[in-house]
Amino acid sequence: MMENKKSLYRTYRPSTFKALAGHKNIVDILVKQLKENKISHAVLFAGQRGTGKTSVARIFAKSANCTNLADGFCCEKCENCFSANNNSAPDIFEIDAASNNGVDEIRGIKNNVSTLPVLGKYKVYIIDEVHMLTKGAFNALLKTLEEPPAHALFILATTEYAKIPATIISRCQTFNFQKIDKSSLKDRLKLISKEEKYIVSEEVLNEIFYLSEGSLRDALNILEQLMIVNDSEINIESLKAIFYIATKHEKIAIIESIINGEFERVINYFEKADGQGMDFDVFALSLIEIIKEVIEYKLTNNVDFLRVLEKDDLKVIQLSSLETMFRLADNLSEAYAKTKGTTVSFNYLLISLLKSVADIKVKDKNQPTHSIEKTEETKIMGEDSQKTNIKIINVEEEGKDTSQEKVDFESKTSIDTKNIQEQTYKDSMTERKVNENLEKLLESQNQLNNLKQESRIIDNSINKKDEATKIVNESTTLLLSELANLQSLEILNNSDQESHSVELSNIINLLVGAKKEFRDLIDKKIAQWFELDENNKLIHSEKAQVFFPFYKAKVSAVSKQEILIKCDDFAQAKLLCLKLENREFRQKVFKEFGREFIIYAIDSNKWEDVKIEFKNLKVRNSLPTRIEVGVFEYYDSLAKSKLEKTLNNDLIEGAAKIFDIEEIEIGE
Ligand SMILES: [Zn+2]
Repeated sequence: MMENKKSLYRTYRPSTFKALAGHKNIVDILVKQLKENKISHAVLFAGQRGTGKTSVARIFAKSANCTNLADGFCCEKCENCFSANNNSAPDIFEIDAASNNGVDEIRGIKNNVSTLPVLGKYKVYIIDEVHMLTKGAFNALLKTLEEPPAHALFILATTEYAKIPATIISRCQTFNFQKIDKSSLKDRLKLISKEEKYIVSEEVLNEIFYLSEGSLRDALNILEQLMIVNDSEINIESLKAIFYIATKHEKIAIIESIINGEFERVINYFEKADGQGMDFDVFALSLIEIIKEVIEYKLTNNVDFLRVLEKDDLKVIQLSSLETMFRLADNLSEAYAKTKGTTVSFNYLLISLLKSVADIKVKDKNQPTHSIEKTEETKIMGEDSQKTNIKIINVEEEGKDTSQEKVDFESKTSIDTKNIQEQTYKDSMTERKVNENLEKLLESQNQLNNLKQESRIIDNSINKKDEATKIVNESTTLLLSELANLQSLEILNNSDQESHSVELSNIINLLVGAKKEFRDLIDKKIAQWFELDENNKLIHSEKAQVFFPFYKAKVSAVSKQEILIKCDDFAQAKLLCLKLENREFRQKVFKEFGREFIIYAIDSNKWEDVKIEFKNLKVRNSLPTRIEVGVFEYYDSLAKSKLEKTLNNDLIEGAAKIFDIEEIEIGE
């Protein structure tokens, strides 16, 4: 059992970049700057709590003053490293803007910064939660940042990037700290458990990741609580004793119940779990992960893809069709996204699962003997779709689980589910209407109040954008990590923008005319932009900087007139859509491709939807006839609808000015 001592988070705060969990892109850039002796005088670390901003700040501060740097990494032996590790470095100053609004502290810096450092090369000021500074303190800081002495290094950290004045941002090199990835977090937990002489099961590590939502600090706090009440071994039962979560076997059983159409078992499990205080957000996420593994396994037949599951776990689940799994994943993701952190997650998640059962049953009824066994992405997208060959196999061969009892059960319960669905739908519609009205009212009010501020915000965002490109322009030898950082910054800068949506019918139209040789050509072209030399530097640095929104994106399909790009996440797909709305950017891309194209960008979730829809149409022999679309017409109509939206907003704003909004009663 763990004794009462310093928290795990403090004890195991990494002291070198090599020991740090995750953030490889950011570390690569900082180490490169240290190595080349080209560090910026001010950096800004933005990102949610517990992601390691302070740890990186401290290591960077120490490394900047290390007298014996090896390849950009601090030595941990020199006097400066030693004093930094003891928190007694005379040249490193830490200020927590959250505990004092900082005017005096910042003025103190202003006076103090001009004198030379005592031991090291730099005087380093780490200002945590910098968004909490008062206006006066920000102004004082700005004066210092405008003309910093050569020996000054400012490391600003914030959880609220949007609250930082543009004038400050434009003087800093900004880094966006994303949530820590699963394997980095688990590696760190494993290492610490080993040091503390605990054996922690893989299943527990996975569950801690979901519970902590990518915050290493939260993850270590959970591990610590478990160590306090357990001796040397932590298994899923010990975790369940403190945090009510479902075991892997319970989750598998739920998925099996869904496949088998057992409504009652699903409902019973939910009611019991709710009574015990289950966190349904965590439950939804871990169900999605299991389904993802089942899909991967079914597509590849390769056990190497299994992380949570073992082969034995798949016995029943793998009998279901791929389509069922995709549908289940969709329903779950939707339920999770809509209700995360709300009190309705229990009800909504349950309904989404029941909906999945009902969907599967309806589908089985309509198509009693056929299901798609396995298709390869390349098969559908690559070749001319007319030649595509999808294997059809008999369901009866797969599963012998359609007993008479279940058929009876279905006829008893399907009506109830339908009622539940309809009722919920109606409720949510009324609720949505009320919310919409309220939102509209609030929006107009805000617009009235913020008219003056708005123009300032727009100016800010323009500055921020210029800054993001500037960072890269200054660097001559660009690394991939810098490109990734630029991309994530642009995503941050554009987070309040709305992009056009890509219509499913348009994509289907593309897929009908898709040609593999076209895709190979475009694929090659994009890969060229990001080609690396033997030192891992970008060969075509300039092109990479222009076309960075495409970095890591995949070409899914290409027809004579259209290109479909798939991005790992929604944020990147949105960024790409926004960029493509810009004519100048588009022209540059077209020039590279040798001709004009309509370019659709979607995220991997939508891609899964598209594949299902395409397969459904294909199986039913009802794929639409291809329509040739004009590139110019498409982008022209896009621009027009965007303009219309802006005009509408102006109208609302105008109305808000004419009427005294506060006089309008809500609820009439
Ligand atoms: Zn050192």
